[in-house]
Order: sequence, then structure tokens, then C-alpha cells
Amino acid sequence: MIWNKTKECMSREQMRALQGERLRKTVHKVYHNTPFYRERMQQMGVTPDDIKSIDDIVKLPFTTKQDLRDNYPYGLFAVPMSEIIRLHASSGTTGIPTVVGYTRKDISVWQEAIARCLTAFGADKHDIFSVAYGYGLFTGGLGLHYGVENLGGTVIPMSSGNTAKQIQLMHDFAPTAIACTPSYALYLAEAIAASEYNLDEFKLRIGIFGAEPWSESMRREIEAKLGINAYNIYGLSEIMGPGVSYECSAKNGSHIVEDHFFAEIVDPVTFEQLPCGEEGELVFTTITKEGIPLLRYRTKDLCSLTDEPCSCGRTNVRMSRIMGRSDDMLIIRGVNVFPSQFECVILEMEEFEPHYLIVVDRVNNLDTVQLQVEMRPEYYTDQINRIVEIRRKLTHKLQSLLGLGVDVRIVEPQTIPRSEGKAKRVVDNRKY
Ligand code: ADP
Ligand code: ZN
Repeated sequence: MIWNKTKECMSREQMRALQGERLRKTVHKVYHNTPFYRERMQQMGVTPDDIKSIDDIVKLPFTTKQDLRDNYPYGLFAVPMSEIIRLHASSGTTGIPTVVGYTRKDISVWQEAIARCLTAFGADKHDIFSVAYGYGLFTGGLGLHYGVENLGGTVIPMSSGNTAKQIQLMHDFAPTAIACTPSYALYLAEAIAASEYNLDEFKLRIGIFGAEPWSESMRREIEAKLGINAYNIYGLSEIMGPGVSYECSAKNGSHIVEDHFFAEIVDPVTFEQLPCGEEGELVFTTITKEGIPLLRYRTKDLCSLTDEPCSCGRTNVRMSRIMGRSDDMLIIRGVNVFPSQFECVILEMEEFEPHYLIVVDRVNNLDTVQLQVEMRPEYYTDQINRIVEIRRKLTHKLQSLLGLGVDVRIVEPQTIPRSEGKAKRVVDNRKY
């Protein structure tokens, strides 16, 4: 069964015509309702009348996460707050979060998008879903939750964490599908193996995994260990949340919900639009959104697009896996973190040099972070108590800023390798 056959299977020409029409309307709307875009367009000498078809998208300005921060909290909203029925914010925990707002219609689009995803994964109203993404400001939990309800399935609002309870309820409530990060799925698989239960006492058959990059080998491992079919779901809060794209039975790229989100790949240096098949930065324009419509939002995610026909019958373009990022953002246990955030904390303490190394690893399928940091020679001491105290202070600061437990290792002056070019701040040993 296909959830929305008209929108998921229309011809490429029809889709581009629809996208052109919707883009035109969106541009008119933001020009009149969002001073930020009006100014940007005026600076570029573009008026809404210059946008006649989807090909004209290249005339429009880009938007970045920084633009959202600069206009914190509601500066890019295109409707009065009385029209906004929900807020979410990006999981990046520091500084200024990016806030997004949804009108009733935006929420209904999101619910439909997720229902399309779940249908593509082979689920229907007979399925019971354990939603083990975090509930709260993060879009994962509530996004999936309302999508399942829209499909007519049964939702268990499990949220993240508390693995023993997750396993017990997975056993007792017999969900047939689970939504969580792929790394948590592997962790769960191992916890189940170590539990009192046998895998054949569970009814699980579908995994809905996203929010962080994962590979084909990770898919094989999860599928084997949990005895399920594992599917990718992609999204970002700025555009909507999970459900911007999703895999189908072909498990060969994720179909983009193109009647709502127009995707482009651009060269991350020149920002020129690149043709299908070439890898570059993924850029989205929302073409139906009311609350916070965004033009050419630069995701910083690197991937490629294809419009080749898919064996499932859907005609919507597919994006490849995310191959990396054009910035240095790390996703650790589902939380977005930047090396610069560690640097800020380190430099707030006079005991440390700005020489540090962040080592990310995955132990028992959980991400771990170690921070090696050099002490200034004048503070370096062989008094263990003193070092322990300073370490505790730094660990605490990192925990409260990033919301992450970091294993801090204070090292002697001059031990972190110096580099002659760009400093290497991160070693990521995780195998995707
Ligand atoms: P939050 O962590 O609050 O969702 P964002 O919405 O900003 O914060 O996170 C979105 C980012 O997460 C994407 O830009 C991408 O880097 C990553 N991401 C989400 N889903 C996937 C996926 N299926 N595969 C790879 N990366 C993903
Ligand atoms: Zn398909």
C-alpha cells in the first residue's frame, strides 16, 4: 500500500511543475512576511516575480543555521505566534538553540510525511510502535509519535533511555516496530542478548532508524541481531524533523518528500548547483511550510541525489546516505556538538592551554567521548588532589554545557601533537 500515491508516484514533469508553483507562492509569502528574506532578496536584486519555475530557485538566497541564531528566537517565523501550535528546538545544546515553529497545517504535513515513511517500511495500522527517540524539544519523539497515530498504528511513547524498562515493555507490549537511533538499536540488541529473554519472544519486525549517520554494515548487523528489517529515516528540525526522506523496500537511497521539500545539491565551496549523481552539500527549500519557511537551507550534510526510477514504484528523488558533513559537527549519542564548544569551556579555565584532542569512540554500541587537554606549565603539579579537583571542575562544566558525560584526561604540557596546518582536534574511531 502506498500512502499518497498521487504525490509519491507522479511523473517528474508534474512534480517539477507542482514544485515551481509552490515555490512561487512561498517566495511571495516570505517576501511579504519575513523582513530577513525581503532584505536578502533586495540586496540580490531579486523580486518574487523573478521566480516563475523551480529552475529559478538558483536566484534565491541561501539560509544557514547562523541566520536562525541571529534571528533568535522567532525572527524567521512568517506567521503571527497565534498561528503557531508547537515549538521544537535543535538538540545542539549550547549557546543559542535554533527554534522552529509549526502551524496546524505544518503539523499535519509532518504527520502525513511520517505516515508515508512508515508505509514505505511496510507498516500499517496493525503495527505497534515503540518510539524510543527522546520526547521533548528534540523532534524525534513527538515527530514519530504523531505520524504513528496518523497511520492508525498503536504508539508506545517510550522515549529514550532506561534500557531495562525498554526491553521489558518490548517483551510485554509486543511492539512490531521500534524507532530510535541506529547505535541505540545495536545497544538494545546486545542488552536483549544479555537479558533473561530470547529474541523469539519478541514480535519486532521493523526498525526505523535515523538522527545520525549509519552504514550498510551497521544495517546488516542490526538486522541480524534483532531479526528485523531496518530502514533509514532522515530529517532535520529546521526543515521539519524526521521524515524529510525515507527508504523503501529497495533500501537503496531515501525518497525525499518532494512535494513539500525541494532538494538541491550544491558545491560546498562555490555554492553552484550540481547535477544528479554528484556529491555535495544538501540544500532544502520548504515549499509548503507556513510557520518558518526556509529558502535554500544549507544542511551541511554531504550526499548525492538520484532521479533514476526505483523498483518500489515511487518517483520521488532519492538521496544517498550522508557521507559526512561540510562543517565539523559531531553527532554524539544523538546530540549535535561542535569541537569549538569544547574549546570555549577549556578556555574559560585559566589552568588549560588551548591544546586539546577529542577522541570519540563507540563502546558496546554507545558513543564515548574522551577529551585530552594540556595544562599550562605554571599550573601543572604532581599534587594528585589538585589535578583531580581541576578535572572534576572541567568535567562538570562540559556536562552542563553539552549535556554529555566526557571522560577528561589532563595531560602534561607539550604532549598533544602540534600541527603545522589545520589543527587536528577530533579523532573519530566509530565505525559506521
Ligand atoms: P536534532 O538532533 O535536534 O534532530 P537536527 O535536527 O539539527 O538536530 O539534526 C539533524 C541532523 O542529524 C541532520 O542534518 C543530519 O546531520 C543528522 N541526521 C538526521 N537523520 C540522519 C540520517 N538518517 N542519517 C544521517 N544523518 C542524519
Ligand atoms: Zn523506492
